[in-house]
Amino acid sequence: MAVEPECIVGIDLGTTHSLIAFADASGPRVLPDSSGRPLCPSVVLYLPDGHGGVHPIVGWDALAKSQGMTRSTIASVKRLMGRSRSDVEGDLAYLGYRVVEGDHATARVAVPTGTGFPDRVISPQEVSAAILSHLKRQAEAALGRPIQKAVITVPAYFDDAQRQATREAGRFAGLDVVRIVNEPTAAALAYGLGSGHTTADSRERVIAVYDLGGGTFDISILKVSPPAAPGETAFFQVLATAGDTHLGGDDFDRVLAEALFADVYGDESSGTPSNDARMRLMQVARELKHRLSDEPEAEVEVPGSDGRPVQFRMTRERFEALVLPLVERTLSACRRAVADAAAKTGGKALDAVIMVGGATRVPLVRSRVGAFFRIEPYTGVDPDQVVALGAAVQGDLLARKTGEALLLDVIPLSLGIETVGGAVAKLIMRNSTVPAKATEMFSTSVDGQTAIKLHVVQGEREMVADCRSLGMFLLAIPPMPAGIPQVEVSFLIDANGVLRVSAIERRSGRRASIQVVPNHGLTKDEVDRIERDSLVHAREDMTQHRVIDLVASARLDLKWIQDRLGRFGVRLDAPAREHLESHVAAVSAMVAAAEADWRAVDPDTFQRAKEALDRASIRLQELAILDSLQAQSPD
Ligand code: ADP
Ligand code: MG
Repeated sequence: MAVEPECIVGIDLGTTHSLIAFADASGPRVLPDSSGRPLCPSVVLYLPDGHGGVHPIVGWDALAKSQGMTRSTIASVKRLMGRSRSDVEGDLAYLGYRVVEGDHATARVAVPTGTGFPDRVISPQEVSAAILSHLKRQAEAALGRPIQKAVITVPAYFDDAQRQATREAGRFAGLDVVRIVNEPTAAALAYGLGSGHTTADSRERVIAVYDLGGGTFDISILKVSPPAAPGETAFFQVLATAGDTHLGGDDFDRVLAEALFADVYGDESSGTPSNDARMRLMQVARELKHRLSDEPEAEVEVPGSDGRPVQFRMTRERFEALVLPLVERTLSACRRAVADAAAKTGGKALDAVIMVGGATRVPLVRSRVGAFFRIEPYTGVDPDQVVALGAAVQGDLLARKTGEALLLDVIPLSLGIETVGGAVAKLIMRNSTVPAKATEMFSTSVDGQTAIKLHVVQGEREMVADCRSLGMFLLAIPPMPAGIPQVEVSFLIDANGVLRVSAIERRSGRRASIQVVPNHGLTKDEVDRIERDSLVHAREDMTQHRVIDLVASARLDLKWIQDRLGRFGVRLDAPAREHLESHVAAVSAMVAAAEADWRAVDPDTFQRAKEALDRASIRLQELAILDSLQAQSPD
């Protein structure tokens, strides 16, 4: 068998939806689930297992079963990734579940485990890992081969802790996260910008990526410098980002639902609708919104105040008037980003505007954005899929290691070390490309010091108090007068933005280092525990790989047998033929069951069924061999 190229998938781990995609010579494509759905809702429902534990249900299944299970349904967990409990205080009102404080003030979710048992506390990384595992299985079923490596995207404004948390989630899902890529960079890649495949694409460009999702809005302005010559590197630099972490398509649903409620129940109803009624209204509003993206007018059915169905009609014009203030709010963020970027480009005009996120399907959004930037926005690549497709393109480039278009990302915030008086010495500046390396010499300010504290911080401000603390370690040294020790501090950031800091005192040769585990990430103990847990799942993973392999080979067997049955079946006697056909049916049923859910099939039983099919087809194999021999010897 030919050696297959390495397979690196791309994953858009979104706040509302997540997707997995794969690229090969024929280009990138999203890998849908077994029902053909490309998007997976980023929702995990934790159901009690009856023994004080919980087990996760992911995506569409979680949504379907989540009615009345608000506290067990974890949505928008991306908002909690790598954050502290206090960081997310403002988000709590939007999340229906309990968020508690873990070690180092980190945000954790607490889900019910059934009456009589305490809530189970789960890290955001584990919740995301459940989504990633689900996508991984989906892709393995679609491609018919195991997947180990992935590129995962994050918003451009994600800091170190949030990126680290995303990497951890990947690791917990059994994925080797070969690269973390900014979402706008991925979107640009999906449009082929800067990938160096076209020679026409050889000048520097400034592009805007406008991303309006379910609950978040981001605008990023990027400078794309394509490879100067084949074999050189393309370069994506984030010039500016702005946005609103609580503005998105869901807000469109809300204003629409409010209008609908006022129109249908306005006079008769007193006060606000019940929780259930509100949920239903939001669903209807969303359906209406989606239809109004394609039609100038749409009608939906809602239960009237007397319970009988009422038709509710809305024109696109009225919808646009309702959501215009929301769209205008996105444009004021665009204005800020353009101003920030202009300071760096000298006001260079934009070359392109890329539309990302499901909510950019709304025609008003497209037209207002086009008018604002005075450019026809790019909408050719599906805005739901564009980030995942770009991540897959990056994965493919890494898998093929062409070098032709090795992409460099940049670090979003400067990294430095605390010095005397709480000041910050920056070693690596914001927007440096990764991988990056920097070294600086320091000394002591007090006589006879026997330990030097190295405090690693991230941020643009001059004082430690205004920056974010990433970690701290001590370097023990022999006592010397102030100013005599020569401490060389090195920062090394790998291609994934993970930072290693080391320090060596030159006179004594003493050294110490840390790999930065941001304060808002997991503790060592937690990582150990989660890795232990993932070992428990290793068996399950192996079973899954076996089933996937069996499906692939059974499909080939079935194809061969069915083809030969068509040609030589008539030469089999009736009982032999029936016998073989019953085995074909049995194995086909197992393949179908395994494709729907690999857990439904026991690999040993599957294996035995395959072997039985093989035995039942021996006569057919002989007939096929005879036939090919006769074809070779002309008689
Ligand atoms: P995220 O990046 O936050 O995961 P998505 O890009 O999946 O979000 O966007 C989800 C939003 O897009 C939802 O509010 C959804 O209603 C909206 N959306 C999806 N399709 C359409 C459509 N055809 N018309 C209008 N809005 C849409
Ligand atoms: Mg998105």
